[in-house]
Amino acid sequence: MATKKSSSKKSSSKTPSVSKVVKKTVKKASKTTGGIIAITIGVFVLIAIVIVYFLVPFSFLDGKTFNEYMNKKEDHTSHHHADPISFNGDVYDDFKINFLELGNWYTGDSIFIKAGDNDILIDAGSRYNSAQAIEDFIDANCTDNKLEYVIATHAHEDHIAGFSGGSSKNGIFYKYDIGTIIEFAKTDSTAAVYTNYVEARNYAVSKGAKCYTALQAYNDTTLREITLGTDMKMTTLYQKYYETKASGENDYSVCTLFSYKEHHFLFTGDLESAGEKSLVEKNNLPKVDLYKAGHHGSKTSSSKALMQVIQPDVVCCCCCCGSDEYTKENKNQFPTQDFINRVAPYTENIFVTTISTDNANKKYASMNGTICVSCDGTKISVVCSNNNTILKDTEWFKANRTWPTTA
Ligand SMILES: [Zn+2]
Ligand SMILES: [Zn+2]
Repeated sequence: MATKKSSSKKSSSKTPSVSKVVKKTVKKASKTTGGIIAITIGVFVLIAIVIVYFLVPFSFLDGKTFNEYMNKKEDHTSHHHADPISFNGDVYDDFKINFLELGNWYTGDSIFIKAGDNDILIDAGSRYNSAQAIEDFIDANCTDNKLEYVIATHAHEDHIAGFSGGSSKNGIFYKYDIGTIIEFAKTDSTAAVYTNYVEARNYAVSKGAKCYTALQAYNDTTLREITLGTDMKMTTLYQKYYETKASGENDYSVCTLFSYKEHHFLFTGDLESAGEKSLVEKNNLPKVDLYKAGHHGSKTSSSKALMQVIQPDVVCCCCCCGSDEYTKENKNQFPTQDFINRVAPYTENIFVTTISTDNANKKYASMNGTICVSCDGTKISVVCSNNNTILKDTEWFKANRTWPTTA
């Protein structure tokens, strides 16, 4: 402060300062009525500019004021990194995220993460019988039979069925030692798949698991940010549908950000545009290295408002590419044309787990297969079990989708 003052004094001794010029002009102007009017208008215009800059939100600034938008922009540059993604087969054991193939034709999420000494599972879709495929993968990658953290994003079958395994009770919660469960704070579900989930979760709790809702985890300072290793953490983000009624289950999704040094990995379950709007407003989201495509690449998720903020480098989509499970309309089958249009400005690195080869007979094959994204704290590597072909270079894409030319 002191040096700033002295330097401005120095310059004022040589040339008239701005304030002097303004004072002179005002003095001159205030001698005439026209001048007084001009000064009054000037003052009002200045006040208006200050109000607009600091207080008025604009839709073209993602609903932020100019001030918030400029500050947010600055924040993001500190997270920016220009490291190339490696596809050379390297796997970094410190931090590994696996998007699992689920052993059937149905779309669903199950993501197994190794972070430091922690084994973490986000969701256990797509159907009861996916439990076997998930368990096979865990057994091959987890030596102590313990999942330190389990996240259940929302009460839909394609995310929670494998936790119970149905009436055979051979699901994840029956098979492994469970450390901490973070689950959806709200649901309107009365489906059997949900009551089976509750029974399985209660079994895990009876065996010693701790269970919190996303809202409880967020509100507890010891749980909101969990340290997983050196410079490695898991953060439960906030979004308003943890506490308010949503129009469907998807917007109740638990949202979690993993960070390793300056690298970020975002998981939003099946959150749709209303939930994404809240997520953007309530958190200072960084640019991310990896974004799990919300709602399997649906047209109702991965909104422009979210993409503009997170600007992902890699996008992994857990779906059965081109299946007609939810719609016969080609462009809205996962991954949808709208999703591709909104991701394309940021990255071509879109990966998809499986592909439907025969909708009539519910047959599927690996697309990329199980997708492994790993990070050594500096570099990011993608290695897929089937192949590393990015979505836009696949035969399916060429026959069913177009890459936007404006991207
Ligand atoms: Zn889903
Ligand atoms: Zn869902």
